[in-house]
Amino acid sequence: MKNNAQIDPRALAELIAQLGRSGHGEGLQSGLTPVQWTALRYFARANRFSRTISAFAEYHATTRGTVSQMIKSLVAQGYLTRTRSDQDGRSRRLDLTAKARGALADDPFEALVRAADAEAAGARRQLDRTLRRMLRHVARARSARPFGTCPSCEHIREDGRCPEGRSPYSCGLFLAPLTRAELDQLCVNFEPASSGGALP
Ligand code: SF4
Repeated sequence: MKNNAQIDPRALAELIAQLGRSGHGEGLQSGLTPVQWTALRYFARANRFSRTISAFAEYHATTRGTVSQMIKSLVAQGYLTRTRSDQDGRSRRLDLTAKARGALADDPFEALVRAADAEAAGARRQLDRTLRRMLRHVARARSARPFGTCPSCEHIREDGRCPEGRSPYSCGLFLAPLTRAELDQLCVNFEPASSGGALP
């Protein structure tokens, strides 16, 4: 039986890539390409500061020019809407439409979600840590920033008070309150907390 030292890193990387591709296949039947599915999943998970073409290009490790035609096509097909960004009047925020949410309900990627769900909680936690570390490594090699979520971000603030109708959390970078639902959304401005986790 092989021990960890004998696991070929290339074979491991290929397994990860194969897992990623396995979420694509049947998607072609819907008329959406794999990159369009990736975009819809991204806009479903990204926070309001990150739902832009530039942020998606960064997430997809490509250029804005490469993805902008594809995003225009998703807008034209009624999967995304554009609105002026609250933070920056010059950029446009992209939001999913009901049609996109309907498509995501039949997302072939769900097979992968179910496979992850079948793993024990401890194995999932360990895999989560390992894959995040690998993502950070790859991002560093590309001189790009890793995406992440608020609970482990340097900029998260929790003042411990919850005035009526207001969230106890805020973003120290955007000086904006954050709802609980937003804490688990992907952010292009994520900065890993030096302590490893800014929220308990
Ligand atoms: S706290 Fe960090 S991850 Fe959350 S919105 Fe602010 S910059 Fe983004």
